[in-house]
Amino acid sequence: MVKIGILGGGSAGNSMVISTRNCTFAIDAGFSGRELRKRMAAVGIAPDELEAVLLTHEHTDHSKGCRVFCNSFALPLYASSGTATYLRNHDNLPERVVVFERDNTFELNELMIHPFAVRHDAVDPVGFSILTPDGVKIGVATDLGILDGNVERSVYDSDVLVLECNYCPEKLRNSNRPELTKRRIAGRNGHLENADAVNALEKLVTPRTKLVLFGHVSRECNDYDFVRSIGREKLDMMGRQDVVFDVILQDTPLGRFELAGESCTFCGADI
Ligand SMILES: [Zn+2]
Ligand SMILES: [Zn+2]
Repeated sequence: MVKIGILGGGSAGNSMVISTRNCTFAIDAGFSGRELRKRMAAVGIAPDELEAVLLTHEHTDHSKGCRVFCNSFALPLYASSGTATYLRNHDNLPERVVVFERDNTFELNELMIHPFAVRHDAVDPVGFSILTPDGVKIGVATDLGILDGNVERSVYDSDVLVLECNYCPEKLRNSNRPELTKRRIAGRNGHLENADAVNALEKLVTPRTKLVLFGHVSRECNDYDFVRSIGREKLDMMGRQDVVFDVILQDTPLGRFELAGESCTFCGADI
């Protein structure tokens, strides 16, 4: 069985925990150490079960708690070489660090982890495609301006797909954010807009796919209910009523999903 605990996502903090037969680990630690512990308890996965934290990139909404949290549980932080250098220069690197190179697959307790390069305004950002020895594939692609061929190939045909669905272009235009910020978000190194995420489902979802989560949804420039409806509608139109679909929230952990055989069960959160 594979458990996926969604602790939260958005520009104020991102983290998820994955527990397989071989290894329990987190992807990103963008909340304070205390908040991470609280949110992990809510999804029923204890911090002392963790064996590693994988980091996508250095932005605070992903790295905020990584040093304190990794140090308090003596966990190694897995980061790309550019990200690790950046964190070292900013005094935010934990004691135990394992450096990887973008697009070079590595092994972690029998899991094959592929950190694929993404287009984002960070020094050395990646998404992750994870393959368990039981053949479960988990694709995580958030914080990316465009879905290029490298990303598509990496997360195509996943059992679990976590994809960014950041903003509604009209809401972004009408927001009172500075013009430069608007251009950054909408640019090729920014974030993925609703239509890109929804249309990508046609390319990425396959008969193997059991769970799709839209993440990193902007609270200011998007709407959770709207995102939930367009994602569900698209999957239904594709005849994929069987795929479990939800939207990752910022303020509360979404909960835990459990994959066993062909089934995916939502276990909620104990908030
Ligand atoms: Zn982010
Ligand atoms: Zn970012």
